[in-house]
Amino acid sequence: MRVKGVIEEDFLNFREPAMFINTCFCDFKCCTESGLDVGVCQNAPLAQAPIKDIPDDVLFQHFMGNPITKAVVVGGLEPIMQVGELAELIFTFRRNGCQAPFVIYTGYYPEEIEDEVALLKQFCNIIVKFGRFIPNKPHRFDETLGIELASDNQYAERIS
Ligand code: SF4
Repeated sequence: MRVKGVIEEDFLNFREPAMFINTCFCDFKCCTESGLDVGVCQNAPLAQAPIKDIPDDVLFQHFMGNPITKAVVVGGLEPIMQVGELAELIFTFRRNGCQAPFVIYTGYYPEEIEDEVALLKQFCNIIVKFGRFIPNKPHRFDETLGIELASDNQYAERIS
């Protein structure tokens, strides 16, 4: 899968320790819809980072080799722009007997990505965090993720 980077242990984005995968692309809808510069997005610096193509098997072995991490979080930039690659990655984990939760942080709302959600739903144990980042909105604690989300229009849902 093409990635901007991998954080081996992340404790901020899910209730359990996770391997965090940064995806490669975003149209920066959260900023442009609010009439703001794309630099407002906390992930904006990643847009300048080089893309690395890491085989799915290598990502799987990294995850399995770390006894601390219990989930995989896929986030900023916008994972749904690589949903085909994402589905292949999840397939690699499931084919090898790993049922660990995948938590996917998207800036889209469900009605904007019905086909993509249907694709991801075919795998077990998938959680999606939906909704734009809207600057200056209050934070909101999300029970599904067990963490605070940046703005109160965002929420997570277990889709499978
Ligand atoms: S979807 Fe994520 S990366 Fe894209 S603009 Fe919104 S917060 Fe930034």
